Amino acid sequence: MNLPASSASESTALRYPFGAVPEAGASIQVAPGVHWLRMQLPMAGLSHINVWALEDAAGWTLVDTGMQTADTAANWQAALAGPLGRRPVGRVICTHMHPDHIGMSGWLTRAHDCRLWTTRLEYITCRMLVADTGREAPADGVRFYRGAGWDEAALEHYRARFGGFGKAVHALPDSYRRVHDGEEFPIGAHAWRAVIGRGHSPEHLCLYCAELDLLISGDQVLPRISSNVSVFPTEPDADPLRDWLESLAAIKGRVPDSVLVLPSHNEPFYGLHARLDSLIEGHERRLNRVHEELTEPKRAVDLFGALFRRTVGLEMLGMATGEAIAHLNCLIGRGRAQREADAAGVLWYRSR
Ligand SMILES: [Zn+2]
Repeated sequence: MNLPASSASESTALRYPFGAVPEAGASIQVAPGVHWLRMQLPMAGLSHINVWALEDAAGWTLVDTGMQTADTAANWQAALAGPLGRRPVGRVICTHMHPDHIGMSGWLTRAHDCRLWTTRLEYITCRMLVADTGREAPADGVRFYRGAGWDEAALEHYRARFGGFGKAVHALPDSYRRVHDGEEFPIGAHAWRAVIGRGHSPEHLCLYCAELDLLISGDQVLPRISSNVSVFPTEPDADPLRDWLESLAAIKGRVPDSVLVLPSHNEPFYGLHARLDSLIEGHERRLNRVHEELTEPKRAVDLFGALFRRTVGLEMLGMATGEAIAHLNCLIGRGRAQREADAAGVLWYRSR
């Protein structure tokens, strides 16, 4: 859900102004009143998430919180007692509902008696996924992955692991403050504007400050990783890749190229518009590669070679499948592919 599945890509047009990254419990000031911290992640392939502490009237406004682990709690305690100078936390903003971003929001808002700010679909979707914790894997999910071409061993892995989302999220706050697209609100001395994107998550919040020339981009724009864009069993016909591509193009029109981008993974960088272009081109190339594969009927699992540079093991299978179906549904939406179910319920895709 929160691991990037696509191959990493590097653009020479990007510039990284900071030579170092903050150690656990430490911070680096990246702009006046804006501090960069890192929280470790217990996942192979993605070692950390960047979170941001912004100086505000009531103390700190924190943007994103890390995954619920004992390490993250210790890291926050060290940061709040150390570089953040024991000032109170007045507000927690989450860019989106993936556990590495929202995981500790309930822990922080309860400890500091403050509110969570995020968009409505991120809050509601998170509560829905947390509510799945402890439930049995649904028949709709098994049907969805069988349709994608999974064998019995993979389906058993899905059943055994279902409902894990909630374990990485501390009990959410029971209410929140909704942030609307385009809304402006002050953090400390500066006005910040909400810029919402879709495709990686349902209503992802980026924060743009014209006065500081900063964009807190969450997972919507990452410099070295192509964010996961997946179809999930709850909405098998969704076209999140269309949402994603439209969002990237919209951000280019709404946020100037001059900003320092503060992403959730990798390091702060300059070169927003080049990165947006390269992400869009990367997906268009992959759409074409998938389309070329479909001269013969293929299942979603037959397309990993066209989409990913690395081999897809059991741990990555869900995300890789979701991303393959995202490309297939986008091709169907553009009238370039069609699909047909066989007697066993497996979906076969062909170009048109
Ligand atoms: Zn994410």
